[in-house]
Amino acid sequence: MKIIMLGAPGAGKGTQAKMISEKYGLPHVSTGDIFRANIKNGTELGMEAKKYMDQGQLVPDELTVKILLDRVAQEDCKNGYVLDGFPRTIPQAEVLENALKELNDNVDFAINVDVPDENIINRMGGRRACVNCGATYHLQYAPTKVEGICDKCGNELILRDDDKPETVKNRLDVYHKQTQPLIDFYNERGILKEVDGTVSMNEVFNSIVSILG
Ligand code: AMP
Repeated sequence: MKIIMLGAPGAGKGTQAKMISEKYGLPHVSTGDIFRANIKNGTELGMEAKKYMDQGQLVPDELTVKILLDRVAQEDCKNGYVLDGFPRTIPQAEVLENALKELNDNVDFAINVDVPDENIINRMGGRRACVNCGATYHLQYAPTKVEGICDKCGNELILRDDDKPETVKNRLDVYHKQTQPLIDFYNERGILKEVDGTVSMNEVFNSIVSILG
C-alpha cells in the first residue's frame, strides 16, 4: 500500500504518518526528516537544503525528487510506504506518478488532513523538537514528562527555526500556493480522502484507519 499524506505544515500529518507506519508495517518516509538528518551530519545536501528550510521555502524540486526516488527504491519500500511531506508541488507529484507508472504501479491513497490556518498558527508555536533525535512534542497537546527534555533520549528541546512564527507564516503561504493544488490533482485521480484534522490525534487516526481498512 502506497499512501501520501497531504495537509498544511503543522496539520499533524507527520504524527498520523508514524501511526500508520506502525499499524500497517510500512516505512515512514519524510523528506523533512531526510533533510534534517543531512543538516545534522553536515552533508552538502544538508547545507543546501538548510538555506531554504530556515526561511520556510521549499527545497528545489531537483534536489527533493532525487532523494525521494532513491529512498523509495530501497528494499524496505518494496511493499509500500507512507510519504509525509512529499509531494509538495505538482511537478514532484508528476515525477512520482511517472516513476511508479514505469513500474506498473500507482499511489493508493492521498489523505488530506484538513486544519484551518488559525489552528495551525496556534499549534506550531507550541511545537518543540529534540536537538538530538528529532522527536517532536507539543507544550499543550503532547508534553514531555520533564519540561524541556526529550522523553526518548534525554536531550534538550528547542523551537525549530522553521516553526518560528514568521517562518510559519511563510510556510503557510507556500503551502497555499504550491501544495494545496495537489488536493485537486489527487481528487482527479480518484484517490483523495479527506479527514478532519482538528479533532484529537486518536480520532484523526480512527478516521484514517476506516479509510485504509
Ligand atoms: P517538514 O518536516 O515536512 O515540515 O519539512 C520541513 C522543510 O523541509 C519544509 O519547510 C521544506 O523547506 C523542506 N521540505 C520537506 N519536504 C519537501 C518537499 N517535498 N519539497 C520541498 N521542500 C521540502
